Amino acid sequence: MKKIVVLTGAGISAESGIKTFRDADGLWENHRLEEVATPEAWRRNPELVLRFYNERRRQLHTVRPNEGHLALAALEKHHRVHIITQNVDDLHERAGSTSVLHLHGELLKARSERHEHPSYPCTGDLALGDLCPKGTQLRPDIVWFGEAVPMLERAADLCEDADLFLIVGTSLQVYPAANLMKYAPWHIPFYYVDPNPQVNVILAAMPNVRVIAEKASTGIPKFVQEAVKATDF
Ligand code: NAD
Repeated sequence: MKKIVVLTGAGISAESGIKTFRDADGLWENHRLEEVATPEAWRRNPELVLRFYNERRRQLHTVRPNEGHLALAALEKHHRVHIITQNVDDLHERAGSTSVLHLHGELLKARSERHEHPSYPCTGDLALGDLCPKGTQLRPDIVWFGEAVPMLERAADLCEDADLFLIVGTSLQVYPAANLMKYAPWHIPFYYVDPNPQVNVILAAMPNVRVIAEKASTGIPKFVQEAVKATDF
């Protein structure tokens, strides 16, 4: 069994009906990210931030994994697959993937505004006045822009001995996620599935890159055919 590391972004959930961030107008569901996804936004207008994530969480209960999520879960029959996702949804888990690391947090978890740990399950709305067991205000367990990425080291460790690296549905603009490839062995095959691929400098420096400019639902099966089935990989 080979080790496949997969970096996913908002694009893999697009065909489930969850909007990506940069595709349309630079707004995330009609909001500038400075209004809803930064520590400053939380200090300035916590009600708006809570409402924004409550809406995202409610939407999550109405969508399902798509062919892309399912194809990645099916890969586990033949290989060790580790997904590192920038997404805050739980569609990889619901598709059946068993190793999913959320770099930017999870919609279905909350934490104290004072402490990163622990996190608590959160399936419904959060409101001002909802307190953690230690008595401080709960906030979404999301890594906001400008905050440190606590899972980065674990993600980098996963990349270190990858045999193949697959990137799906990300504009490769949000760092440090967009840098992760540099922790993988440089000579391995890198695949990038995205209808509007934006190869960044890190990926451009790799010697063995194949871009499949398609949506996840068709691009991932094509990747499986090319990289996994058609070779002795
Ligand atoms: P992004 O919005 O910057 O880029 C989305 C990428 O997806 C684009 O390159 C686009 O071409 C591609 N795409 C669009 N439709 C696709 C499809 N059907 N199949 C495959 N690719 C498709 O997203 P990002 O790079 O992940 O960065 C955005 C940030 O916003 C992340 O930090 C993420 O946490 C957050 N976010 C998360 C979600 C989610 O959890 N589902 C949704 C929106 C934003």
